Amino acid sequence: MARTANLPPTLPTPRFQVRRLIAGFCVVFGLACLVTLGALLNIAATLDHQEQQRSAFHASQALEQRLLASRQFLSSYAVWDAAFEHLAGKADWQWAYEEKNVGESLYSASGYEGVFVVDDQRTTYALFKGKPSEASASTYIEAPLQPIINEARGAASAREQITRFVLFNGWPAVLSAAAVRPDKDVSDSEVRQAPVMLFVDQLTDDKLTRLGTGAGLAGMHLEKDATGEHGQQRIALGDTGFHLAWTSPLPGQQLLWAMLPPLLCALLILGLVMLYLFCHALRSSRAIDLSLARLQQSNQALEASEQRFRAVAEAASDWIWETDRQQRLTYLSQRFVSVTGYPVDDWLGQPVNQLLACDTTPLSPWLDALAAADPQQLANLRCTYRDHNGQNRYCRISARAIWYDGKPTGFRGTASDITDEVDAHARIQHLSLHDPLTGLANRNKLARHLEQLLLRGSDAPPLTLLLLDLDNFKPINDSLGHAAGDAVLQEVATRLRDTTRDVDLVARLGGDEFILVLNGMDNRTEVDRFCARLISLLQQPIVFDNQPLHIGASIGVAQSRTQGFDAGELIRCADIALYQAKAEGKNTWRYFAAEMNKQIQYRRQLENDLRRALQNQEFALHYQPRYRLGDLRIVAVEALLRWQHPQEGLLGPDTFIPLAEQSDIIVALGRWVLREACRTAHDWPVGLLISVNLSPAQFLRSDVVADVREILLETAFPAQRLELEITENVMLNDIEGALSTMLSLKELGVRLNMDDFGTGYSSLGYLRTYPFDSIKIDKRFIAGLNNTSGNDRAVVQAIINLGEAMGLTVTAEGVESEQQLKTLEKDGCHEVQGYFLSRPLPKEALEALLQQAPTGSARRLL
Ligand code: C2E
Ligand code: CA
Ligand code: CA
Repeated sequence: MARTANLPPTLPTPRFQVRRLIAGFCVVFGLACLVTLGALLNIAATLDHQEQQRSAFHASQALEQRLLASRQFLSSYAVWDAAFEHLAGKADWQWAYEEKNVGESLYSASGYEGVFVVDDQRTTYALFKGKPSEASASTYIEAPLQPIINEARGAASAREQITRFVLFNGWPAVLSAAAVRPDKDVSDSEVRQAPVMLFVDQLTDDKLTRLGTGAGLAGMHLEKDATGEHGQQRIALGDTGFHLAWTSPLPGQQLLWAMLPPLLCALLILGLVMLYLFCHALRSSRAIDLSLARLQQSNQALEASEQRFRAVAEAASDWIWETDRQQRLTYLSQRFVSVTGYPVDDWLGQPVNQLLACDTTPLSPWLDALAAADPQQLANLRCTYRDHNGQNRYCRISARAIWYDGKPTGFRGTASDITDEVDAHARIQHLSLHDPLTGLANRNKLARHLEQLLLRGSDAPPLTLLLLDLDNFKPINDSLGHAAGDAVLQEVATRLRDTTRDVDLVARLGGDEFILVLNGMDNRTEVDRFCARLISLLQQPIVFDNQPLHIGASIGVAQSRTQGFDAGELIRCADIALYQAKAEGKNTWRYFAAEMNKQIQYRRQLENDLRRALQNQEFALHYQPRYRLGDLRIVAVEALLRWQHPQEGLLGPDTFIPLAEQSDIIVALGRWVLREACRTAHDWPVGLLISVNLSPAQFLRSDVVADVREILLETAFPAQRLELEITENVMLNDIEGALSTMLSLKELGVRLNMDDFGTGYSSLGYLRTYPFDSIKIDKRFIAGLNNTSGNDRAVVQAIINLGEAMGLTVTAEGVESEQQLKTLEKDGCHEVQGYFLSRPLPKEALEALLQQAPTGSARRLL
């Protein structure tokens, strides 16, 4: 059987693994985001930095350019012979201003707010925004002028000019200064006293805008303090405290603004998608965890159920088998080994019909038929097999097809060993038809035999019945004991068998009575010769214990041709003839004759006597206790009928019951016994059962169920304390009717006991079908327990085992010795009855016994 392994407990659950994976993912994803953002910021910063450097370069270039242009412009005025002539010393306003040589156009066309001519002490010429001004240059220019004048004169010989950033009227301006000199080469000394021309180009917003546009820079302006907006660059304008500032573009920032929103959006979306996927993975892993846990649970349940199955399979007395669809064995339980002696492996893979066989139904098609039938169908078959020692054994197999997916895939079932049951059955079967002492046919077999032969009536071959009774047997039995009696009976049986043909039947009726059925022999002379031979044969002494024993025989003869074809009638006639033979001096034979019917008359007389006795209350019950083995407590009491005959004294039932059974008297008598027994036992201890014998004739001639119910009600006797003893002969006449009567009796609540078990017709079959609670082993088996052959003991053991197996209480009757009691106890018999423990006693004696003896109540009452 397949087994699913448990997950090792140390292995992390899928959920845990998924969580770890998700955490790893998150870390990697976060790192990737950081690296990307970092790289982006770095690129942006680099771009911004490069752009700032570039714009600073352009700004300073533009400024330089302006200064250069201003110097060059100034040089065209300062290096001029006419200017030197008219401006040296006192300035010639006429020439300069009126004739517009250094006039108003310097402001209006060239944009110089201030134009001055200074020498060391004074301002000789001044224009402010193109208008003549009286004020000195230093009024407008917030810078020491002398150093500028000196420097300008110093550079004059080289035709150079100087420029400075100064505050003009409080606002930054480019001051260009040059010494006025003639346009010829001059020495430094010649220009040491020369006037100096100052052009002031105030850096107005307009000019700055133009300057910025020319350099490709936006927002150029001046700032007083050092703090500026982000992204603005500056260049200091000399010592003026002002800076030239402009706005340079930030491509890195622009890049960031362009890239970041979509990037963040993408990351957010990615993050959300991942979150969704993680949640999904977690949910799935939780589901997997759950189903894993369920799987583990069902594994455990499976394991437990397998253990249970194994425990049951191994504890059972039956073994369990399974085959595949081809009927090859695929499983055998351990019990198989102990029952058959084979190792399981020897048989696995082998076809089941090699192990088991059934002589009436071939196993293989029988199994196949199961596969075609209702899936629930369970069928039984009796099979044989050879065990490990080659011994032939029987088993009952039950089988059922295994269905998978609507198709039969094999077969499964149990096999119980019933060898002991079959053996016991065979033995009992034999016993039921044979006399155990002599091995001859018994009354049952005789009845069957006669029934078969006489069935055809006058068409049947003529039959001659010889009823044979030994003379002088009782004295031998009484004086020399049972062993001698048994030896004599066995020798007689041998001789009888030896003288008869195969078509004849020899039966022992009990005691020293035998019957011979001669088939097809009818002729009187022939019969006479045969009888004579028999008698002389039986007269020959029988040696027992080196001692010759002499017996003889009397024979009564009845013939079907004259006495008819009724078996009972034939036997009755032979019996009357035997009576006659005995009466006429023994060792002889007599044919039945009508005159002998006197005998019949005698019986009629007896019948009348019985009827009268019933009216006169001549009957009484004696009671024999039944004991539980082990503690020998009295558990039941059997009522046995007695007849206090006015002339003949106390008569036992064997003398009158058979006669009563032949007429309706048995019905009245039976009712009387039942009523009397119930009344008497009514006040006995509660746990005590009362057993009453029922005659088969009562079943035939009356409504036993109604009688029992009526008497139970009338006497108020509890049904569960009443036990009815029935012999198997009840079933001889009407099997179906007997079964339904017994089931009805069981419904009243009474117990049923099968009496004289082992002597009947076909014991085992009845036991299975009929609702018996207990069985009573016939006393003749108990008597045989002492025999050295051990044959009877084996039968007793078989019956006990059988009863045990069927849940029946087993009683042994006729226990006459301690030895028998011990043997029965050893063999596990449940209850005993017999002279050794107590004879049947009159009511008073029994009640006295009950007072002293312990009675048991612990027994199954239903
Ligand atoms: P049974 O039912 O088999 O009764 C047992 C017989 O064995 C009784 O004989 C009893 O006295 C006798 N017995 C008891 N213990 C021993 C023992 O240790 N050794 C020997 N050898 N015999 C022992 P009983 O009372 O003569 O009855 C004979 C038969 O008559 C009974 O056999 C039963 O079949 C029948 N019978 C007795 N009473 C009634 C009755 O009320 N109605 C019917 N229909 N039959 C009855
Ligand atoms: Ca009985
Ligand atoms: Ca009996």
